[in-house]
Amino acid sequence: MITRVTLERREQEWLAPYAIKSAETKGRFYSEKEHDFRTAFQRDRDRIIHSTAFRRLEYKTQVFVNHEGDHYRTRLTHTLEMSQIARTIGRALRLNEDLIEAIALAHDLGHGPFGHAGQDALSELMRQHGGFEHNRQCLRIVEKLEESYSGFPGLNLTFEVREGLKKHARKWIPSLEASVVDFADSIAYNGHDLDDGLRAGLLEVAVLDKIKLWQEVNRYIKEKALSANSAIKIKIAIRLLINRMVSDLVSETAKKIKKFRIQKPRDFSQVGSEMVVGFSKDVEKKVLDLKAFLMEHLYHHYRVVRMTEKGKRFIQELFRLYVVRPQQLPPQVLKRVKEDGLHRAVCDYIAGMTDRFALDEYNRLFSPYERV
Ligand code: MG
Repeated sequence: MITRVTLERREQEWLAPYAIKSAETKGRFYSEKEHDFRTAFQRDRDRIIHSTAFRRLEYKTQVFVNHEGDHYRTRLTHTLEMSQIARTIGRALRLNEDLIEAIALAHDLGHGPFGHAGQDALSELMRQHGGFEHNRQCLRIVEKLEESYSGFPGLNLTFEVREGLKKHARKWIPSLEASVVDFADSIAYNGHDLDDGLRAGLLEVAVLDKIKLWQEVNRYIKEKALSANSAIKIKIAIRLLINRMVSDLVSETAKKIKKFRIQKPRDFSQVGSEMVVGFSKDVEKKVLDLKAFLMEHLYHHYRVVRMTEKGKRFIQELFRLYVVRPQQLPPQVLKRVKEDGLHRAVCDYIAGMTDRFALDEYNRLFSPYERV
């Protein structure tokens, strides 16, 4: 049998000196006995996967609202794709893959329904009441709102995982593991948003020739995969694109680790982890170019804007309705009003909704013939 102690020993042997070791965790807020055969970070990963907030990711929007089609990325599939990318990068750099996986799987738990429209709507509605920001909300979920244990609120995750989720903090000094997750996030959405945009017909292949990274992968396709049909060519292109970003990030970061002589975790306090984990200058420029393209042609596409603005209206109206007469809230939410105040409790309730639940709730409350 492989015990936790064996795994911890393996971490000492396998991982780089600058990787965070699970045996050296700064621990949990409420102390608990360690598990027999899972490390502290593996246990965190499992707690996140078993949480209610994680299951809700399946019906939350990434870019395309859930009912637009079955093949678009949802927050859940985005999370899984990005977690896989993050683990690949982490493993190549001999970082702690379990810590990376835990941070990655939790990173989007704080998003409300309808993607960024949800974030914008809630942050406007909460302006006078302490604000709303999805990274902050993510921490609130894992530290307080999830109810799974009798002895404490939240999931009682280790310090390292919670710290990896603090992207909202003004002076966020992420570990190398958390930095890798952050980069993997943008690598994942740059790739799959392009893919979804093409699938939805909002982007056309001919226009993509404006993107420098696309020109590069296209050159390869013209040489090596000319006979493939156009759908396969798109898949090859997206794959190559992701691989280009991941490979560059790994080799560039390995170079920086050497250059700055990073010998132990957080050895980068002189330079900052953002100086250590990153793309080469050339690829960094091309990634910015790709992001600008997506912003202009996909995220600001009139159909995407219509989709998300519609979501925003549902949220605004639900919020106002609950605040005007809180007795319309279900008892478990009403109970929280006493503890957190009316606006925060309503905000938590709406932020926790999936697109589907928000639409059903809207129907129940605004459609005259719907049962409440
Ligand atoms: Mg994300």
